[in-house]
Amino acid sequence: MMKKDYYEVLEVSRNASSEEIKKSYRKLAIKYHPDKNLNNKKEAEEKFKEAAEAYEILSDPEKRERYDKFGHSGVKGSTSAAGGMNMEDIFTNFGDIFADAFGEGFSSFGFGRSTRYKTIKGSDLRIRVKLSLEEIANGTEKKVKVKRLKVAKGIKYKDCLSCHGTGQITHITNTILGRMQTTSQCNVCSGTGKSIENIPYGANKHGLIKEEELVDIKIPSGIMEGIQLKVSGRGNEAPFGGVPGDLIILTEEIPHPKLKREGNNLHYDLYISFPDAILGAVKEVPTINGKARIKIDTGTQSGKTLRLKNKGLPKINGYGYGSLLIHVNVWTPKKINEEQRKFFEKMRKNENFLPHPGNEEKSFFDRVREMFS
Ligand SMILES: [Zn+2]
Repeated sequence: MMKKDYYEVLEVSRNASSEEIKKSYRKLAIKYHPDKNLNNKKEAEEKFKEAAEAYEILSDPEKRERYDKFGHSGVKGSTSAAGGMNMEDIFTNFGDIFADAFGEGFSSFGFGRSTRYKTIKGSDLRIRVKLSLEEIANGTEKKVKVKRLKVAKGIKYKDCLSCHGTGQITHITNTILGRMQTTSQCNVCSGTGKSIENIPYGANKHGLIKEEELVDIKIPSGIMEGIQLKVSGRGNEAPFGGVPGDLIILTEEIPHPKLKREGNNLHYDLYISFPDAILGAVKEVPTINGKARIKIDTGTQSGKTLRLKNKGLPKINGYGYGSLLIHVNVWTPKKINEEQRKFFEKMRKNENFLPHPGNEEKSFFDRVREMFS
């Protein structure tokens, strides 16, 4: 499906100010709020998410600039929507936008209350995922087993006895200026206004129970170790109607048996025979998704590097591919027979066999420089 233009989604012009964008988003969010569209909830939710995604990009000056320059591919993977945004996330991320727009009617989503109650967020979970070079090159989807804390079934909440369900404690102190009233968050319920009435069997004191779950994760192509992926809302759940934490994915690369990765480039060590180096040849080399044939010129020097453009890994930002660099090594035979020994003995003094490196024979340092350029 073609992605719609973010400006079109938000119904603003391309040079709209951030204030106009915010206003329009708020209007659309109210219009498509699922609670207001009970007859076509699914469709409204889609529109709502679309608007949230567009707003996430266009409200961020840096992301907006990238989007203006490169379109959707410029901001690929940079919305929370890419990691599976759900309605709760949208409300958490953009809660401030709604705070003055909605009344109590939307309290089921947790905003509007934020002035009184505190919403608890569950803790994040971290998992390590091992990836082959092929999976990194092509991107992949995986199911991973995650042990999450979930709200136990059958849990019942009641109002916190300490703050009578308000989430706040009011202190009255007498000072020389008169009675002073201060309010602070209730420590007993952490400001949620609730406590647990009964803890179901097996659950911890917060009414949470550990359950193993399969979570679908999407690995974008070109991922590098050290880049963290986030699946919103798939961390530990939180009690008292709080929002779940996130699932953080750390990737680990399984070394490839033949190809070595260095950024977006791949390296391969090719060994050719002495005759192939002298006479030239066509050789097969492994690539990430198969094989390629390369031509070895007559008189190829050992240590020469051949570059196969775009046969490396895709760049994570979606622009182009790295190269496959083939390092040619000439294999010197370790054993020869008498006839061969005589032949090479004769060649020892032959002018053609004497080294005379010219400009086209780059030094090791030149080659290294070229490789990283
Ligand atoms: Zn309390």
